[in-house]
Amino acid sequence: MDRKEQIVELIAQGYRNVKALAQHFGVSLMTIYRDVRELEKDGRIVRKHGELLLKEEAGEIPEEGMPTCAYCTKPIEKRLEFTYRLRRGRTVRACCAHCGLLLYKNIKEEDLESCMTWDFINCRPISCFSAWYVVSSSATPCCLPSAIAFSSKDDAEKFARGFGGYVMNFETAVDAVQELMKRGTPVRIKM
Ligand SMILES: [Zn+2]
Ligand SMILES: [Zn+2]
Repeated sequence: MDRKEQIVELIAQGYRNVKALAQHFGVSLMTIYRDVRELEKDGRIVRKHGELLLKEEAGEIPEEGMPTCAYCTKPIEKRLEFTYRLRRGRTVRACCAHCGLLLYKNIKEEDLESCMTWDFINCRPISCFSAWYVVSSSATPCCLPSAIAFSSKDDAEKFARGFGGYVMNFETAVDAVQELMKRGTPVRIKM
C-alpha cells in the first residue's frame, strides 16, 4: 500500500493532524503536507478547523459556528449536549437527551464506542448508558417532551417530585421518548 493510501487509512482510524502522521511514518512534515494536498485535490479528504477528515466524515461538522443537533438541527448548548462517539473518531451530537435518545436506534451497535452527556445538576460528564432520565417533566430546557439526564437516581427522583415526569434508565427512556413522539405530547404513559 503506498503512503497516501495508508494516510487515508490512518485518518479513518482517528489520526487528525499532519504532525501525528509525520511521526507515524518518520518523515518530514513537508512530505506529509504534499500527500495531504494531493489527497485533498483528489477529493478523498478535507481539512476542517485544522483537522484532517475523510470526505464522508466532514459532512457531520458544520462549516462554522456551533455544532448542530443531528436530529433536530438546533445549535447545541454545551450543558445539554448528548454525544455518541463512534469508531474511527466519528461523533453524532444531539442538542439534548430528548434528541439523543431518539437517535439511538439509528446508530449501529458495532460502530458505537461510548456516549456522554452532562449531569443536569452538577454539570459533570456522565455516560448516557448509566444515566437516569426524567422524561416528560414540566421543565423544558430544550426539546419536547423533555428528557433530562442525572448521574444519580436520587437526584432524578427529587427532580421529578418538583417538576413531574418519569424517572427511567437509558433503555426505557429510549422507548418512552419514541412512544411520546408518536403520540404527541404531553401524554401520560403507563409505567
Ligand atoms: Zn435536537
Ligand atoms: Zn433538544
